[in-house]
Amino acid sequence: MQQKIISALSLGINQKLVDHSALEVIKSLQSHGYNAYIVGGGVRDLLLKAKPKDFDIVTSATPEQVKRVFFKNSMIIGRRFKIVHVYYDKLNQLRSNKHQKNIFDKQILEVSTFRSNQVHNVDKNDKGRIVSDNNYGTMNEDAFRRDFTINALYYDPVSEEIFDYHNGIQDIQDKTLRIIGKPQSRYIEDPVRIIRAIRIATKLGLEIEDNTIFPFKNLKHLLANEPRGRLFEEMNKILLSGYSKQVIEELNHLGISRKVFPIFSQIFFDNQNEFANRVLERTDERIQNNGDISLVFIYAAMLWQTIKSQAEHYQNEFNMPYVEAFRESVYAIKPTLVNNGLTQHLIQSMREIWFMQANFETPSAKKLEVLMTHKRLRQSWNLFMLRHEFNEVDAELFTWWDNYINNEQADKTALVIELIDKFPQPEPAAKKKKKRKKRKKKVKQDNEQ
Ligand code: ATP
Ligand code: MG
Repeated sequence: MQQKIISALSLGINQKLVDHSALEVIKSLQSHGYNAYIVGGGVRDLLLKAKPKDFDIVTSATPEQVKRVFFKNSMIIGRRFKIVHVYYDKLNQLRSNKHQKNIFDKQILEVSTFRSNQVHNVDKNDKGRIVSDNNYGTMNEDAFRRDFTINALYYDPVSEEIFDYHNGIQDIQDKTLRIIGKPQSRYIEDPVRIIRAIRIATKLGLEIEDNTIFPFKNLKHLLANEPRGRLFEEMNKILLSGYSKQVIEELNHLGISRKVFPIFSQIFFDNQNEFANRVLERTDERIQNNGDISLVFIYAAMLWQTIKSQAEHYQNEFNMPYVEAFRESVYAIKPTLVNNGLTQHLIQSMREIWFMQANFETPSAKKLEVLMTHKRLRQSWNLFMLRHEFNEVDAELFTWWDNYINNEQADKTALVIELIDKFPQPEPAAKKKKKRKKRKKKVKQDNEQ
């Protein structure tokens, strides 16, 4: 197909809408004699008047050449596709205003090199899936490698031109999602494109064109063979899309295998978990209103009912005391989380949020200070609030905590006295005592030997 060049201004976008650091990266690359453009979601979303999540940059420079331009502020990453991460300090306006000083976030910009469409140079596994490819090519070739026509638009924010190889502009105007090339082989090459299609179309309110949607039914089974890590990344993208509830419903509707996203299957496909559904609704609302939200909170809150009912099961079946049953339940879920690709760090952070629920429920005056300075306090409190909405929390206790955490005018000493007065203070952890006893016993045995 012939390349078309269209004025960006005539389509209602201009460089002011582009992230400042992305524009700087493009200007730097161009001043070193390379071509550089914004491609993918950034251009697509600007043209559709949606807020871009990020600006992906593509260039004629090889990763090594990009590294020479940005030197210490960059790093080459990736194996299957080598790309360069360029680091920038970005002013965080919200936090700067709040703290009345300039606060910077570390921003990472992804710069990739034009890829070749010389498919014979690409390593595929026995199922036809691409496993390694670092062949560089022209912009034209790069455009053929992209998934959907609206994702293959190249925007030069300096010259204010858009390069369109696959009639993407027309599809933007028609609000149509259309795959580039032969649909069947594009999904065999990379089955994750099926999920991407559903996520992007749902998020942007696009119609998936017939030939693009047709092979889903026969090829969706390929998704189950995708590496866990890749599916985990997709799961995160869905959760952070701002349309997670709808996307998950669409995936269920398509009937993807339970193996693809076991967590979604367990919570949403097989059950009507009202609590988890509310978590998705709140998350979507927040993201659509530009609020920030963390994956740790989403996962911890989404799985709360699972933790809770498992703890109840331990209480009823084994007569375990509440705190112990709760602890067992938090540990018991770990294999499921690992199976779903969740990282150790994420799991550990989720546990902190869960354990803090027990701290809220059995408040201890002695632990207040530690609790108030805990880095997961806000996220744990948000989960506690949601639980309160579901009538899981004692109303008086909730009011006390709300006062203690959120009311700056409240007399904290009086509140602590009230706490000790009204709520039974937990005994020191029984488990620790036992351990100490065991250890003492062992020491005694060792000494006797
Ligand atoms: P998002 O708004 O989620 O960032 P995106 O389309 O930008 O959407 P990215 O994963 O950031 O998604 O990818 C950037 C671009 O890289 C895409 O727009 C597309 O051109 C290309 N791309 C990404 N994944 C694939 C894929 N699996 N197959 C072909 N091209 C892809
Ligand atoms: Mg993107």
